[in-house]
Amino acid sequence: MPELPEVEAVVNALGGIVRGKRITGVRVLRPQTIQSMSVTRFCRLLRGRVIERVRRRAKFILLDLSDGWTLVVHLRMTGGFVYAESRRPFPPTARVLFLLEGGARLAYTDIRNLGLIRLVRTERLDRWAEWRRLGVEPLSRTFTVRRLEEMLRGSRRAIKAFLLDQTKVVGLGNIYAAEALHRARLSPMRRAESVARSRARVVALYESIRETLREAIAAQSTGPLHLEFVNAQGQSHHPRRAPSPFRVYGREGEPCPVCGAPIRRIKQHGRSTYYCARCQT
Ligand SMILES: [Zn+2]
Repeated sequence: MPELPEVEAVVNALGGIVRGKRITGVRVLRPQTIQSMSVTRFCRLLRGRVIERVRRRAKFILLDLSDGWTLVVHLRMTGGFVYAESRRPFPPTARVLFLLEGGARLAYTDIRNLGLIRLVRTERLDRWAEWRRLGVEPLSRTFTVRRLEEMLRGSRRAIKAFLLDQTKVVGLGNIYAAEALHRARLSPMRRAESVARSRARVVALYESIRETLREAIAAQSTGPLHLEFVNAQGQSHHPRRAPSPFRVYGREGEPCPVCGAPIRRIKQHGRSTYYCARCQT
């Protein structure tokens, strides 16, 4: 499931190829993917608009269009994009096709159909309840040690659950929450408020969150996981990624990279948490 680094990588790569391009047509292959308006209206409003900017907020991908419209995409579990330079058949998982000037096409693909696309007035994004509730961006200047400390204070939840709460700090999911906690040497079961009682722990967590996300973004710079390029000859350009760079996630039974103790897996709120019982306390 894409988290902040995967979405950021898509935004960076997508921006480089579609910025400045005009949308000449839209084909909606699965109407339920479009939220908040009819497919007819969606297609009519998009036609002729220029993609001026591609940006990210939390795990949302935003394509700012001419005339004050923004196309909002959330990949959820299996969403992604395929960008093709020519008229090639798209995979059966394509849900929406954006035809771009010059003949290129951008497909939104989604195997499990949990992703969403909506078109909104840019100035009205704030009226969207889910949007308004979004917490602080962990890589922004507004995210500070002090702010993290204030949010942690008085929270009796497990720190892992706290990190997954998108109304506090956005962008972390099951993978990077576990990774950040290992790096900070904090047990995922520890209560959030107990982290706040030690300045050293808050600083460790703050720095771990940022380092974990930055490293993960850098690891994707050669090729985002959720964006595929197909050139004019129909060849898919999908660079191979290095083996899992994770320290604990998905590594049950393997030695902890810090102390060598076997990584454990437990269930928290129905989701797997990976951690080292020896160095995370
Ligand atoms: Zn360890």
